[in-house]
Amino acid sequence: MNGRFMSDIMNVDPEIYTVLLNELNRGRDGLEMIASENYVSKAVLQAAGSVLTNKYSEGYPSKRYYGGNEFIDIAENLAIDRAKQLFGAEYVNVQPHAGSQANMETYFALLNLGDTILGMSLDHGGHLTHGHKVNFSGQFYKFSSYGVDPETKMLDMDVVRKRALEEKPKLILAGFSAYSRTLDFKAFKEIADEVGAILMADIAHIAGLVAGKVHPDPIPYCDVVTTTTHKTLRGPRGAIIMAKEAHGTAINKAVFPGMQGGPLEHIIAAKAVCFKEALDPSFKEYAQKVINNAKFLADSLLDQDAEVISGGTDNHLLLIDISKYGIGGKIAEKTLDGVGIFTNKNMIPFDQRTPFDPSGIRIGTAALTTRGLGKNEMIEIGELFVQTLVNIENKEKLQKIKENVAEICNNYPLYPEFEYLK
Ligand SMILES: *Cc1c(COP(=O)(O)O)cnc(C)c1O
Repeated sequence: MNGRFMSDIMNVDPEIYTVLLNELNRGRDGLEMIASENYVSKAVLQAAGSVLTNKYSEGYPSKRYYGGNEFIDIAENLAIDRAKQLFGAEYVNVQPHAGSQANMETYFALLNLGDTILGMSLDHGGHLTHGHKVNFSGQFYKFSSYGVDPETKMLDMDVVRKRALEEKPKLILAGFSAYSRTLDFKAFKEIADEVGAILMADIAHIAGLVAGKVHPDPIPYCDVVTTTTHKTLRGPRGAIIMAKEAHGTAINKAVFPGMQGGPLEHIIAAKAVCFKEALDPSFKEYAQKVINNAKFLADSLLDQDAEVISGGTDNHLLLIDISKYGIGGKIAEKTLDGVGIFTNKNMIPFDQRTPFDPSGIRIGTAALTTRGLGKNEMIEIGELFVQTLVNIENKEKLQKIKENVAEICNNYPLYPEFEYLK
């Protein structure tokens, strides 16, 4: 992003150069609190922007359909071996282009079209690929769901068990995009065994916490575990599939040639770099700080009488019911954006509003923790968050908040080594 590399883009394509620069500055001037985002290291950026993008390598290491893959094979094997070590997995496929592809490939490998999958209700935190009717998952498979308790807004494993006994699913899916509590994978495993179902975990959001050993580990209990690499794991945009060795052949076939052609080997190299970083002891500290920061933020919000769904968090994210401020998620997200607090509107459990203008805002601490923010900033941001929603019509007050946000940003420069061009 600096030096000669950027100057080439500047000369060849000034329009894209401007986009890159503006995006860097947008990140620098705001607080990234979208729970699914993070900032990768410069080493990950460099691998992702490397000559490996030039290569075709359909197939798997030592079994390619093209020549010239002797170095590519080393990178892909490093990615596989490091992921195995990081998560303690028997089998890993590092080729899935994204989390949605990883889930699709897993379903195709292990299920027949039309089979029943029991997953978390999308309104209560499940992902699009967990059976949404506009997504391939909802069209190709029969999804049924379990949800959170109406009172506690937490999962009740007795209800999951009851639903599993009723639905007799071929596969039980544990995973979410918007749930702030830990999952009890052992209890999921007992239920899956009782009804004879395959157990799959989708840890797209929490992979960094699992890798950092600050979240219960799904690997010992699950037949298959999918994850993105770009959320709390802090790697390039992409995904991996981990499984018991017995499923390896089926999953390999489903990924290539089943769903994908040539793997993105520059991204696979970047995944390898990410796994190496996550194997370093400092990543454990990072993962713990992500959770600590989420708790500090939750406490600050609760001190301002904000409605934190389920009353707090055990992971990197928080879901806040903003109904009491008399606004919907759409205007809340836009106003927060305006003061430099980047979040996303989100449905809350039992939401009475629509997905386009729901009652919730979802926030996470993975990116801000990477940037170096800690307890004091979390307390301040909790206050600024509520102040913004309370003063949605007060331009003067919003301007003050924006200045406060800018001050925090300036204290924690993002990619400080990159040229600071405006
Ligand atoms: C983000 C996410 C995905 C999908 O990832 P993409 O890379 O955007 O396709 C899948 N499952 C869950 C639970 C997620 O949160």
